[in-house]
Amino acid sequence: MRINSLYLENFRNYAQERVDFDPVCNVIWGENAQGKTNLLEAIFCLSSGKSPRTRGDRELIRFDTEGFRVEGSITSRDRAFISRIESFRGRKKKITVNGVPAKSASALGQVLNTVFFAPEDLQIIRSGAAERRKFMDMSLCQLRPKYAEALSEYNRLHEHKTRILRDCDQRPDLIATLPDFNLRMAETGAVIIHYRSRFAELLNESAAAAHRECSGGRENLTVRYQTVKTVTDPMADHRQLVAQLLEHQRQHHYAEVSSRQCLSGPHKDDLEVLLDGVSARSFASQGQTRTAALSLKLAAREIHREILGEYPVLLLDDVLSELDPRRQEFVLNRIGGGQVFITCCEDDRLGGLLQGRVFHTQGGKLSV
Ligand code: ATP
Ligand code: MG
Repeated sequence: MRINSLYLENFRNYAQERVDFDPVCNVIWGENAQGKTNLLEAIFCLSSGKSPRTRGDRELIRFDTEGFRVEGSITSRDRAFISRIESFRGRKKKITVNGVPAKSASALGQVLNTVFFAPEDLQIIRSGAAERRKFMDMSLCQLRPKYAEALSEYNRLHEHKTRILRDCDQRPDLIATLPDFNLRMAETGAVIIHYRSRFAELLNESAAAAHRECSGGRENLTVRYQTVKTVTDPMADHRQLVAQLLEHQRQHHYAEVSSRQCLSGPHKDDLEVLLDGVSARSFASQGQTRTAALSLKLAAREIHREILGEYPVLLLDDVLSELDPRRQEFVLNRIGGGQVFITCCEDDRLGGLLQGRVFHTQGGKLSV
């Protein structure tokens, strides 16, 4: 899939802009605070209806204006689409696809998918397990509706059980409801582990290949799924997973009641990322961290293509900094397959660009 052209009106620092893109590679360069990230943000919005940076739409509306419009001409599954978002202060957001009003933002995701790499994504490597779970969850929710369903059910049960554990001091009768919650959490937890373990395996293969290529064959990346201790094989069948999750809950029952926290279940899962056998979180350099985070995103894109048949559009925000020339060359020229957008601050890195279009942005104005 690809985005052929984009129209922006009063979106962030863009007053009005129409731009045609290259089907393969688009590089947007410019000084700080000129609108590079804003442009990628607009494309991301066309795939999900929302910004990767803020919750609501208010911040997206250009200062001193009433609302924004974003429109994209998209080719997906060999068909042409026009996706459009209009958001005005005090009015309900309007989304249309080929002129037909959409009930929800998910209609946009039927047409355009994106994988977005932002500088914040270095936290996937550097931070605690929550960031890596978020990465898995975001990718899997786009790809597997059954996973999204199980995850939201699990989160609901987890919240409820946490409330019971918190309140059972005052209301000891609540303890009696725990076995029922535990069983339902084990059932949905097993579904989550089923999908995550398979995703991690694919991720390991593809991310290792991307990292090897980007580092010129010098470094080996490994991704390992870590889940509940009693689970001996996360790929095992549903019944075995449920039994092992229940066993872990049983072992932790008293600890949960006394600490008033939910200690057992896949809400504590992690993806261990290793570089040449040692923890990337503890030992990776800046460039290695960036390469590893990028490799995970490239792998998510590859899995997306394997499952849905088409590459999503790849949005790489400020990925070139801290990379040596060899790694920069990889990003510019050797990410094969679908359409890529890359932002950077200097154009002197772009001499090696073999194919694609280069845009300059200044004060919310794009020029070629
Ligand atoms: P950097 O290289 O520093 O990442 P950038 O080119 O990616 O810079 P953007 O994040 O795209 O910069 O933002 C450019 C400018 O847009 C900022 O100066 C910001 O103040 C401005 N801006 C953000 N939101 C709005 C808005 N709603 N209305 C007008 N301007 C906005
Ligand atoms: Mg930026």
